[in-house]
Amino acid sequence: MQTLLVTGGAGFIGTNFVRYWRERHTDDRIIVLDALTYAGVAANVSGLDRVKLVEGDIRDTDLVAQLLHDNDIRTLIHFAAESHVDRSISGPDAFVSTNIIGTHSLLKAARSVWLDQRPGDHRFHHVSTDEVYGSLEPDDPAFSETTAYAPNSPYSASKAASDHLVRAYHHTYGLNVTTSNCSNNYGPYQFPEKLIPLFLINCLHGKPLPIYGDGMNVRDWLHVEDHCRGIEKVLRVGEPGETYNIGGGEEVPNLVIIDRICAAVDQAFAADPSLATRFPDAPAARGEASASLKVFVEDRAGHDRRYAIDERKARECLGYQPDRDFAQGLGQTLQWYLDNEAWWLPLLKAR
Ligand code: NAD
Repeated sequence: MQTLLVTGGAGFIGTNFVRYWRERHTDDRIIVLDALTYAGVAANVSGLDRVKLVEGDIRDTDLVAQLLHDNDIRTLIHFAAESHVDRSISGPDAFVSTNIIGTHSLLKAARSVWLDQRPGDHRFHHVSTDEVYGSLEPDDPAFSETTAYAPNSPYSASKAASDHLVRAYHHTYGLNVTTSNCSNNYGPYQFPEKLIPLFLINCLHGKPLPIYGDGMNVRDWLHVEDHCRGIEKVLRVGEPGETYNIGGGEEVPNLVIIDRICAAVDQAFAADPSLATRFPDAPAARGEASASLKVFVEDRAGHDRRYAIDERKARECLGYQPDRDFAQGLGQTLQWYLDNEAWWLPLLKAR
């Protein structure tokens, strides 16, 4: 039995991780530390057995040190971040503050408790992104753990800086850290500002589907549960000081995803007439194609063209490979959003 500290556990991936972990490690306790920004939903985790939600900020070093010390926590999984690229373009300060200063604050707390006050086994796992590697041309090899960092947005630059701080705390002070850099996640509990939930909900509400540039930006898509399994494997068998790239193994252009979402919504309405009553503004409610909502808009500034993950190290060193193919995972995700309108509807006001 152990107690884990999960930062950002009321956000998208953190929530899925908390739920994943408690189902499989039934003796463990989890403390979620989350500032409940617009992206954090207390109800995602607050009612769960053996999970305690502490509303607080990762930049509060004393609070983090106290949580680690008083609960004898030896494992910290760090998800808390500002995570939306568009927001980092319009307001980069919050990204520097949370992602860089916040990660450093956690490292300082971990160092003081785990190296000075209560030395012993410990693990600081830092969750990061493949966006730190920049953008690929169509024929470039996929990102490996040795690809040079070349972040292009304030979001990815702030994550890159946090990765470097995590690395430095290992090499300088001997903190047992691991880092995972993963690709675009999708799945339940994703805030409806990100591509898949945003476009699905816009289809349901008959709102435009704004497609950046020519829509041919390519991303590797990873089901959030596969990501959680990857992190579990890093915690179990990953080597301190190492980084692991975790991917879904499927490169898909945005336009293809959008067309798949539209087709899935059209099929869902055709199969279930009650959807037309619930969502009367959807084109599909009138038997029209959801794809009629597509509009091409000016490209995002500095928009990376392609990301792809070389997952060989995770496969060979951790035994990791994704379980879920994208078509299956996307279908399940769309169904989750159709079944959980009460979760996402109030969040539309916070976007
Ligand atoms: P999210 O925006 O859904 O959730 C972030 C959570 O962090 C929220 O609950 C928020 O309240 C909390 N938070 C923000 N600032 C905080 C602070 N100062 N103190 C405490 N809590 C704070 O993000 P997500 O999509 O779940 O991403 C989680 C992590 O995974 C991030 O570090 C992100 O960079 C990384 N990541 C995400 C993706 C993806 O596709 N979503 C891909 C690769 C890596």
